[in-house]
Amino acid sequence: MSSDLRELYQSVILDHNKSPRNFCEPEGANRSAAGVNPLCGDRIVIYLSIEEGVVVDAGFKGTGCAISTASASLMTQSIKGKGIDEVERLFGGFHEMVTGEPDAGVRGEGLGKLSVFSGVREFPVRVKCATLAWHAMREALHDTGEAATTE
Ligand code: ZN
Repeated sequence: MSSDLRELYQSVILDHNKSPRNFCEPEGANRSAAGVNPLCGDRIVIYLSIEEGVVVDAGFKGTGCAISTASASLMTQSIKGKGIDEVERLFGGFHEMVTGEPDAGVRGEGLGKLSVFSGVREFPVRVKCATLAWHAMREALHDTGEAATTE
């Protein structure tokens, strides 16, 4: 990855950490799930409003490191308005991108802004920060009533 790209990615993450998008419980939220990453101390709650198989609104609350906050912020942006199948595909693509072999080349095609997290796979400890919101979101999506954990 070029250093220009790395800097751009870093500035997107810092921006979303400083002013997280969708940092609220949306009106009409009908699903929620908590996520905890004990390794880092990240705690978030994801709220979804799902109507007829579509995520019409998404938000989150909580405290965590820059990576977990920015990830939740960008995730809620990217899943809004998408069908559950599409959200599952995004989760699969994101998960593959952040857990893939470092020398496997840059993945994340079709992930748009979410590709700013592609550098995370070089830091295994940070992978859990980046995926926490996604795991919690899937718990909320399927409404299992159990808290998500990265353990
Ligand atoms: Zn963290």
